[in-house]
Amino acid sequence: MKFGGTSIGTASAMKQAMRIVTEESAKAAPLVVLSACSGITNKLIQIAESAGGSRLEEAMELAGEVRRHHRELVETLIGDAGRKAALMERVEGYVAELEMLVKGVDIVGELTPRSFDTFCSFGELLSTSVFSEALRDAGHDAVWLDIREVIITDDNFGAARPLDELCEKNVSTAVRPLLEQGKTVITQGFIGSTKDGRTTTFGRGGSDFTAALLGAWLSSDQIQIWTDVDGVMTSDPRIVPDARSIRVMTFSEAAELAYLGAKVLHPDTIAPAVRHNIPVYVLNAHHPAARGTVITDDPALLEGMSYGGLVKSIAVKKGQCIVNFRSNRMLGRHGFLVDFFNVFARAGVSVEMISTSEVSVSLTVSDSPKVEEIARELGRMGEVELEHRVATVSVVGDNLRTSKGVAGRIFSSLKSVNLRMISQGASEINVGFVVEEGDVPKALQSLHREFFSGEETSRIFDTPVQKRG
Ligand code: ASP
Ligand code: MG
Repeated sequence: MKFGGTSIGTASAMKQAMRIVTEESAKAAPLVVLSACSGITNKLIQIAESAGGSRLEEAMELAGEVRRHHRELVETLIGDAGRKAALMERVEGYVAELEMLVKGVDIVGELTPRSFDTFCSFGELLSTSVFSEALRDAGHDAVWLDIREVIITDDNFGAARPLDELCEKNVSTAVRPLLEQGKTVITQGFIGSTKDGRTTTFGRGGSDFTAALLGAWLSSDQIQIWTDVDGVMTSDPRIVPDARSIRVMTFSEAAELAYLGAKVLHPDTIAPAVRHNIPVYVLNAHHPAARGTVITDDPALLEGMSYGGLVKSIAVKKGQCIVNFRSNRMLGRHGFLVDFFNVFARAGVSVEMISTSEVSVSLTVSDSPKVEEIARELGRMGEVELEHRVATVSVVGDNLRTSKGVAGRIFSSLKSVNLRMISQGASEINVGFVVEEGDVPKALQSLHREFFSGEETSRIFDTPVQKRG
């Protein structure tokens, strides 16, 4: 069970997460992976940067905020006086270490990737310490585990990768026995350690990856990612008010959606789960009764959850720019596109959607000042035109591959929208197009009405989420 920052960021959120964990442990002892409390990793990064930039006072001030946040949690969550005092001391210990690091980095005047990772690690160390003690205080058989003794990584600080064999062995000696004894194990996401004991991190958002890895090494029957939305949605609920949560989807649909801008688990994150075919549940900690979304390739599970529906989700990515390029020199020539794409490669800009004809190419990239630079270079090879403030919209579903008439339905529902570009993904499970940003609501709402308002969809998708907050 992995809980993200918003699911444990406050005392009431922690209480809610404790209820969810307690309920699960009635079935079997779970392994619980936590992120830092929401906002804390950002704060730690600020602290690191202030220390590295010789702004000692600012760094110490922010460290004080980290202390206060966790002290308040302890104050509210722990009843037993002895336990409270001990936990306060532990929080104090971590913050003292953090402050020592601040001073050290300030003196040296240099923030290395290695010390940066140590800064970041305090968020998870603190959140898990508080959470496991709160569970114990409530009479739960919980143990705190320092994941740095289990997840051994390479020394690529900031983007470390686990040394699989070693980790798997550690999991079977240090984690599995605890679970078998019926203990709920509470541990940190995101962090690990090199062989010689240096703290590393997987990079931002790395806790989901930790959960997927541990689930795979333990051959768990499922991985639960508890977050603050009702699973994966049919579209962005801020733009499409009657967006629903998708009950079940395949790994390839989830991956495609993640690449296309939807808020889904990043495909690399769940790769360990995919390799071991472990279903991943995306659930809402603020709304545990909602069924959430299951991501799986298991035919029985897909069948049982009435997998179906033509379109699974409509993703949108704003802040894009179209690059239109035209040159007669392309006609019948070979090698021209190599030079063309090299311009993007040299600028370090990733190309997203592409559409070509014999003498022209249109593509989209994330809008940034680099685009003008690229346009200047391309201008030497042909005519270039940029369209800023556009968005890519992608209609995704595994069943698009085998169905007829989908394109017709897509484009007739978009009659009143000006399409700037069209492309069908080579994966054949998405049809994408580009519209002006101002047209995004109209496009999304029209498509959503076309594909998600029919009778048949009600067994595949959950009812619209209630408005909350
Ligand atoms: N706390 C880390 C971050 O914010 C890891 C995570 O939340 O997954 O990036
Ligand atoms: Mg997170």
